[in-house]
Amino acid sequence: MVELHGGKVGLTSEVGVGSCFMIDLPYVSASAQLAPARDVTPINAPQENTIANTTDDLVAPLPLVLLAEDNEANISTISSYLIAKGYRMVFAKNGQEAIALAKSHQPDLILMDVQMPIMDGLEATKQIRLDPNLVNTPIIALTALAMTGDRDRCIAAGASNYCSKPIRLKELNQMMENLLIDGDLIK
Ligand code: MN
Repeated sequence: MVELHGGKVGLTSEVGVGSCFMIDLPYVSASAQLAPARDVTPINAPQENTIANTTDDLVAPLPLVLLAEDNEANISTISSYLIAKGYRMVFAKNGQEAIALAKSHQPDLILMDVQMPIMDGLEATKQIRLDPNLVNTPIIALTALAMTGDRDRCIAAGASNYCSKPIRLKELNQMMENLLIDGDLIK
């Protein structure tokens, strides 16, 4: 778990004295991770546009991620990492909830566990792709299955990419950034 967060575990032990376990966890404050405002006109630039910008126009909203996952440990590990990275998050615990939240919240990116109760992630992905508003939303399938052909099944269902469990958070974050940049959702 510590290594998944990019940390280290250490141990010193002396017979008859005791053992000391050390855990190193990298920490970056959420405020340091906030995306810089973009498309801000410099104050001394010529004002061609006579319509005043509101404050809302000046701050880029943080990407909204829908995490569809039924396992509590994965939800807490993935969400605490991504929230620290500056993402906003909504959560679904099965495929049906994932479809409903995708439609109502229009997330910038979806993380879709494959194995979930009620409706699995492959079926949910297929149905999400039928919505014209969600055709191009990046979807990363998360699966514990490591069988050959899994990747193909996820891509065939409409996933943009595939991440096998145990999830390596840095790798997942890189994959997310690439998809968001490709879709022009972040710069
Ligand atoms: Mn699952």
